[in-house]
Amino acid sequence: MPKPHIVFVASEAAPLAKTGGLADVTGSLPAALRRLDHDVTVIIPLYRRHIDPAVLKPGKAKWTIRLWIGGALRQVPLHEAHVQGQRFILVEQDDMFARDGLYGPAGGAYEDNLLRYTLFVRAALEAAALLKEPVDLFHCHDWQAALLPMLLKTQYQHHPTIARAGTVFTIHNLAYQGIFPASQIPHVGLPPELFHPGCYEFYGQINCMKAGIMMADRITTVSPSYAEEILTPEYGCHLEGFLAQHRHKLSGIVNGLDTVAWDPATDAALPARFGAGRAAGKGRCKLALQQQLGLAPEAGTPLLAMISRLAEQKGVDLLLPCVPDWVRRGYQMAFLGTGEAHYEAGLKKLADNHPQQVHFFRGFNETLARRIYAGSDLFLMPSRFEPCGLSQLMAMRYGTVPVVRATGGLIDTVTDYDAGKGKSTGFAFTAANAASLAGAVDRAVEVYHRPAAWNPLRNRAMRRDSSWEASARSYAELYRQLP
Ligand code: ADP
Repeated sequence: MPKPHIVFVASEAAPLAKTGGLADVTGSLPAALRRLDHDVTVIIPLYRRHIDPAVLKPGKAKWTIRLWIGGALRQVPLHEAHVQGQRFILVEQDDMFARDGLYGPAGGAYEDNLLRYTLFVRAALEAAALLKEPVDLFHCHDWQAALLPMLLKTQYQHHPTIARAGTVFTIHNLAYQGIFPASQIPHVGLPPELFHPGCYEFYGQINCMKAGIMMADRITTVSPSYAEEILTPEYGCHLEGFLAQHRHKLSGIVNGLDTVAWDPATDAALPARFGAGRAAGKGRCKLALQQQLGLAPEAGTPLLAMISRLAEQKGVDLLLPCVPDWVRRGYQMAFLGTGEAHYEAGLKKLADNHPQQVHFFRGFNETLARRIYAGSDLFLMPSRFEPCGLSQLMAMRYGTVPVVRATGGLIDTVTDYDAGKGKSTGFAFTAANAASLAGAVDRAVEVYHRPAAWNPLRNRAMRRDSSWEASARSYAELYRQLP
């Protein structure tokens, strides 16, 4: 029997383009599926300004297709590339994708995002139809790829090699739905007959995510807890009722991590290597990080870290009021992130006021991220909601014990210290306020100062199996259920 051919369609994938956890997933789940004897093709836009030339130098296009969209006939070159054993198709359209941001300027969105990603999805369908191997299933990720099942089942039924493909739509973050004015329907060529409340209409506007929920054969979220949460008004982002109508096809599969790319025993970005039960290297990483960030080189001082998009979701407003007290207690802090200007300004002010104890690096920097994961003691994730979260998985693997709000995937991946000392991998708190975060950090620091308790906790976090193996099997099982 031929291998199942799965086509991933996503707006970002590591190592070619990444703004967050979506890219980690679309960059590493395919390899795990390949190990389960699946053939996987990943289609993303060609973001020329973001691709590291050391990873890929886009050459000549393999095909060029023509698309009528936005009132113009466009030539769309399609590139084929193999990166780390994975086949990618890159959709070129330089006026749309060769920009400084993936989705917009820092903290914002490009005005033509609907046009950009409708073009992308249509090009992805055309590209898939050109492949030698017929497509068994399209796995679409987040709102940018959410229109694919609808377009496949309406406008793309004339391509025999894709027409019968199944569709899975994964919601990595329900808060970003792709909402646009209805006036754009003819401009981008969406099927007007499906603009109604049962499909992609949402309070008079276009809602791409609704189209995905309605038209995909299966819907998944990136953790089981989040799959339940999004059916409630608190987490449903006004789609809880619509999702409830489709819950028979909704399930949650927890994200895994690329445990080869994220391994403190081999990570070339680190000044020293380490692993569970071999903590000496971690101590050297901490010292090097303190020196790099201008913090006092003190082995026994708790070093708290956060690496995050600076958005309301991530609970930055819970953290900011805690920092002065942590400074008074003598803790050190390393913050890395970029996003909403007021959070950036708040963190910068704290770092300016306490340069010996608080460091804030504004920006996206993977090498620094790896050094912070390796060199810190506690990793803070006070998220208001968290579909899965990958940062806590990276932190645990690098021996930095997570302090998380008990929500979504953080519930499914971090076991609180008080839940049972033989199982715990971190600290969790429930209420979304600064006092609860501070209380959890107090508990964590108390344990930090007791090596007999801390070392086993840290080793358990490092030994947690965050690999894709089990979750990739769950996806393979889901794919198998589709015709
Ligand atoms: P989300 O996808 O909601 O942003 P996740 O925890 O799922 O959050 O994934 C975040 C990913 O992005 C992790 O790989 C994290 O290390 C990375 N990341 C976030 N901010 C930065 C940054 N400023 N620099 C480097 N990596 C970052």
